This record gives sequence, C-alpha cells and structure tokens, in this order.
Amino acid sequence: MKIRYFDNAATTAVREEVLKEMIPYFKINYGNASAIYSVGREAKRGLDKARIRVANAINCNSHEIYFTSCGSESDNLAIKGVAYANRNKGNHIITSKIEHHAVLNSCKTLEKQGFRVTYLNVDENGNVDMNELISSICKDTILISIMFANNEIGTIEPIEQIGKIARKNNILFHTDSVQAIGNVRIDVQKLNIDLLSMSGHKFYAPKGIGALYVRKGIDFEKLQDGGHQEKNKRAGTENIAEIVGLGKAIEMIYQEYDIYNQKLKTLRDYYIDEIEKTIPNIKLNGDRINRLPGNANISFKGVDAQELLLQLDEVGICAAAGSACSTGDAEPSHVLTSIGLPKELASSTLRISFGKDNTMEDTKFLVNCMQKFVKDIREKQK
Ligand code: PLP
Repeated sequence: MKIRYFDNAATTAVREEVLKEMIPYFKINYGNASAIYSVGREAKRGLDKARIRVANAINCNSHEIYFTSCGSESDNLAIKGVAYANRNKGNHIITSKIEHHAVLNSCKTLEKQGFRVTYLNVDENGNVDMNELISSICKDTILISIMFANNEIGTIEPIEQIGKIARKNNILFHTDSVQAIGNVRIDVQKLNIDLLSMSGHKFYAPKGIGALYVRKGIDFEKLQDGGHQEKNKRAGTENIAEIVGLGKAIEMIYQEYDIYNQKLKTLRDYYIDEIEKTIPNIKLNGDRINRLPGNANISFKGVDAQELLLQLDEVGICAAAGSACSTGDAEPSHVLTSIGLPKELASSTLRISFGKDNTMEDTKFLVNCMQKFVKDIREKQK
C-alpha cells in the first residue's frame, strides 16, 4: 500500500542530500571535534560549516549558535538558562497559553523555584493578546517567550511587534521557532529576537538535533555539567554527523524557500477549499491568513478524530489529531481549549500538515477519503 504522509509538523523524512553529507562523518571524519589530529580537524570543519549555514539562515553570527539535542532542549536551555542567569534582575516571565510543552513545562518548573509566570490568553484564531502582553510587563519581567508559529493550528504570531515591545522595555525575547524554520523567513536582527529555538527533524534533517541562537552578550546558565563544548554552555561531545545534516537541511530549505512555500500553500488551500465546499459542519482552526503554509487544522462536528485517523491509516494516510505530542492524551489539546473550542469539537479535530514530498494527486486522494470517512462516521452515529 502506498503511504501518503501528511504529518510533516510532527516530523519529516530526511532528505537524500542531507543524508549524503552526513555519512562521511560516521565513517571517515568520525573524530572528536576537540582533537587536534586530521580526523578530528575534519569533524571540526564540518561543525564550523554547519554553524555558519544556520547563522546565515537567520541572519546572525555563527558564534551565536549553540547545537543541542532537539527543540525541547533548546527551549529548556533558553528559558531556564536566561531565568537563572537573570535572577538578580527579576523573577517574572511572560509566555502564552498555547506554547509547546517544552516551554510550558520549563515555566512550570521555574514557578516551583520562585519565578512568576504570566500565561497570555490568545484570541479565537490563536493570536496572542497584545494588550495583555503590554499590561503584564513589570519591573521584574526578565523574559518574554512566545512561539513563532503554533504546531497545532499553524497561527503565526505577531513576532515583529512583540520583538519591538521587548526591546523597548529592555526585556529579553525568546521565540520557539521549531515550526517556523523553513516555512517563514526569519531575520533575528530585524525582528529583535534575542533567543531562538529550532529542531532539525521539522525541516528534513534527522531527529535528535537542535540549535539555539543566543544574541551575543546575553548571559544564560548552562543546564548540563561536563566538558567545555559549545562555548562551555552545552556539555557533551558534539553530534557532528547530525549537526552537519541540520546545516545542510537549513541551507537547502531556504534556498528553495519560494518554491517550497508556494507548493505547500497550493496544496493546503486546495485541501481547505474542497473540505469547506463539500463537507458540512466543519470549522477551520487557526488564523486564515497568518498561518503556516502547510497547516490545515479542521474540526469535523460529531466525528471522533481517533476513529477518522484509524480509517485514514487503513488506506495509508498519516495525519494527526491535534499535535503529535498530545495524540493519545485523554485530555483535549491545551491549544484547542485556549482558542475556545468545546471539548467535543476539540476531539473531532484533524491536523493535516503538508511537506515537500506531497503531491496534488495525493491531496485529491486525501480529500476523497475525508469526504467518504466523515460521512460514514457521521451516519454510523445517527
Ligand atoms: N516546539 C514546537 C513548537 C514543536 O512543535 C516541537 C515538536 O513538535 C518542539 C518544540 C519540540 O521539538 P523536539 O521534538 O525536537 O524536541
């Protein structure tokens, strides 16, 4: 059976070109990047090149990039690292209710340690309440952490505006850009971003590799003790092959940005239009305009999303109910709840996320299956 994969927000397949650049670092240039002999120097060269590629993609200096093991680690390092280093300046952090759990749970941990966290509300489309953001700022506020784009509903937050507010008030600004890399152009200078998290497996590099941008001069505490790798901020022998893969993948995705973005938008808009035209009692979640090019999050009234997922799986279609991280949870997603969806509608929600290997033919097949399965499930429940 042909597999049609529409869950690219959960993870992506590694690109052939990425894998090809990684392989020598397992078998030939496998040295420790700290070693002075040739095999180590080659590894170090790979590491340096990847750092430059990442920096070029977001317009920063390569010295401002720290490699980590994933997006979650980058978020932890940014939020806790900045909080611990700035304790003497204040104990207040502002974030939103729809962040990924890597951010939310980092904040929860900090609350237990005496920090105060404001979780901003969002409107029905998932846009952060800017008035609440402004009124929450106080003399103790040391960090604002707002995601660039939401993983479930695809809403792109007003990052430029938030960056300006943070800068004006002399508060550090972190953004979880795990879903935005490759899908949105990001210039950390123009957007006044001080810290930014990313994760390779969302843009065709392998799982288990991430990066954190930290603007020069910003102090943050390391979370892991050990060696002096990553400028003494992230101990552990560097995962060179995967770092090389992340570097290649980020370079490629921005080289193809216009074509990639247009392709995703075309498939997404076709899917949304067809579903809206042909299936009654549905609701598109997330901002219709400011949304990730590949995201279509739709609630189908009266349809159990888990049952829909199983039926789609039987014909080889991979999709998600809410975010991958919360699939299987009994509780409805915190994102869908925060935009005001009642519990029943939240559990009737399917996220389709398009990627570079999806075709129009596959999307038409998906639409046909959705029309049939939604109708069948609704009829069964009558
Ligand atoms: N932040 C967002 C917005 C995400 O979507 C994800 C993963 O889905 C993460 C953070 C965590 O990234 P990782 O899986 O690399 O730990």
